[in-house]
Amino acid sequence: MKIFDTLQRRKLEFKPIEDGKVTMYVCGPTVYNLIHIGNARPMIVFDTFRRYLEYKGYDVRYVSNFTDVDDKIIKAANEEGVDSSVISERYIEECKKDMEALNIKPATVHPQATKEIDGMIKMISTLIEKGHAYVAEDGTVYFSVETDPDYGKLSHKDMDEMMSGLRDLKVSGEEQKRNPNDFVLWKPKKEGEPSWPSPWCDGRPGWHIECSVMSQKYLGDTIDIHAGGEDLIFPHHENEIAQSECATGKPFCHYWMHNGFLKINNEKMSKSLGNFFTVRDITSQYDPMVLRLFILSAQYRTPLNFSKELMEQIKASYERILNCTDKLTELSKSKAGTEDVMTAAETADRDKAEGYIKAFEEAMDDDNNTANAETAVFEIVRLANATASETSSKAYVDYLLNTIKTLLDGVLGVRSERKKEVLDSEIEELIEKRQAARKAKDFALADAIRDQLLEQGIILEDTREGVKWKRA
Ligand code: AMP
Ligand code: ZN
Repeated sequence: MKIFDTLQRRKLEFKPIEDGKVTMYVCGPTVYNLIHIGNARPMIVFDTFRRYLEYKGYDVRYVSNFTDVDDKIIKAANEEGVDSSVISERYIEECKKDMEALNIKPATVHPQATKEIDGMIKMISTLIEKGHAYVAEDGTVYFSVETDPDYGKLSHKDMDEMMSGLRDLKVSGEEQKRNPNDFVLWKPKKEGEPSWPSPWCDGRPGWHIECSVMSQKYLGDTIDIHAGGEDLIFPHHENEIAQSECATGKPFCHYWMHNGFLKINNEKMSKSLGNFFTVRDITSQYDPMVLRLFILSAQYRTPLNFSKELMEQIKASYERILNCTDKLTELSKSKAGTEDVMTAAETADRDKAEGYIKAFEEAMDDDNNTANAETAVFEIVRLANATASETSSKAYVDYLLNTIKTLLDGVLGVRSERKKEVLDSEIEELIEKRQAARKAKDFALADAIRDQLLEQGIILEDTREGVKWKRA
């Protein structure tokens, strides 16, 4: 299997540190708003890569953080007049709902910056002790880029180039830096900001230190894969490497994977241009699996342009898949209990399908090429539509169904079963059960029923006239 490594700028053969195991860290979102469809791209492409590693038999430890302390969160909190944790907790919950809708597997650990402050203080202290960081007069701690001869290796920038880029930049507080490229590890608190005590001043961490600390804590000093969007290459990942390698004296990560950007009408997504969509906007119009198929329809490093036309095409392809699996499921059910073997013609068709499975694996082995992997699954669906019928053997029908499930549900994470429509009578029955549970003060059960209904797209509203419900 090959992975394109941003650091070496070429495809490398994948060899994990420990046989059969993979450690993987994916930078997660800053939680001050609902996530947008651009944020969903790294989540989906790296979730798919993780699923493929698992399909190949690797035991994957997958860590993805939530950045829950940041200027934008603080601004949103001040606007609402609430604590910044109210904002971050709210949007972590909302993000998890979107992830579930998009069938993104929960990470092995989802650490949060504010819960890892001790570890950050420890790593910053180590960097100061080793002479890689210094404390300015006001208590700000900076990383000193000049102490790291490797600084710039990921983004392939040399110090002179960086300096010329910064020459005209005048930012307040910059004068206390020894080098304009030095970056903040810890900064003093300002009025109305969350803060923690530290040996340098009451304050809060810079952004980059959290990922170095969490990656080390949950995955070890050196990890296999670190991933995120291409905007993170510089400065975020460059700074993570500097912090981690200077603190531990060991290589930080073996493979750097970066996804290209999602654009809309070939322009950057931006609220002011009016071409900005949250995942919620899109999943209220399309099945979330259509969005997942769309994101996977391009190799992850290439730019991807979002358009309603493409979404409509993919919606139609997804419908064809669902019709196919509906048909196969029906056929399999109608032949339940039958013990048979494939006919010679079916065996030949199975061999064709095996060829598509091979193409699927080759695509995924070639730097997570989900575009070609998707095409291979569509070929299997086409084959199934053309060949499976009432006269097929059960062995053949089940083979096709299992193959589609393994590749589509298992690896690409796209559900191949149609969502079951819940009947009004079933909803009413569950609401009655919930009312009884509340009367009996069994709030856990009452909440569980509400969540179950929510999962099926039913929203309950407790009103004075009783419980009302609607479909989401
Ligand atoms: P942020 O919350 O801005 O730190 O972003 C979380 C993740 O989403 C990072 O890996 C970003 O690189 C990624 N990301 C943000 N915008 C886009 C976009 N338009 N296309 C692809 N990835 C994006
Ligand atoms: Zn990060």
